[in-house]
Amino acid sequence: MSLKSLAEMPWIGEDGVLDLANTIVCGAGPRGGDLDLLTDDDLRASWRSRTVEPDLAVLPLERLVELRAPVREALDAATRQCPLPAAVRTLLNSLAAKAPVTFEVAEDGRLTEREGDGPVTGRIGRQTLVLAAGPERKRLRRCPAPRCGMFFLAHRRDQAWCSVGCGNRARSARRRPRPAD
Ligand SMILES: [Zn+2]
Repeated sequence: MSLKSLAEMPWIGEDGVLDLANTIVCGAGPRGGDLDLLTDDDLRASWRSRTVEPDLAVLPLERLVELRAPVREALDAATRQCPLPAAVRTLLNSLAAKAPVTFEVAEDGRLTEREGDGPVTGRIGRQTLVLAAGPERKRLRRCPAPRCGMFFLAHRRDQAWCSVGCGNRARSARRRPRPAD
């Protein structure tokens, strides 16, 4: 991840759940640690202006961090083809219950799903469950490129990287000889 793409966050802005989950850039922090976009003032402001979910954009920092943990755990389990950890499942289930969806049949006979009112934490909880355990689960991946670790929905069956840039970086890292100890 280059500094420019960090500030522009091209991976943010397509899906509320992924926007929240993808606020940690693995290995992009000081001394090879993870970089948290939410705890850096400038990056957080940038993220707030880019997320697709307006109600997430205005959520206080502590609530964002609190909600992010189970969301990331659920997505991480799903990408590893593991069952959701029990505590995460219970928490997300109870969040989701606060933002149910209903069905209604329109005049033309079409069945439509309608989101009821509910807090953003409930909607994100429900959407996380759908992503981690629904039919999209098989498209959900985690990018293994250096300085990335983003969750993404694959557009092709053999898509390993979240972006072209990550694929290139991962390939060139593989070509570089390992530094001597
Ligand atoms: Zn990536």
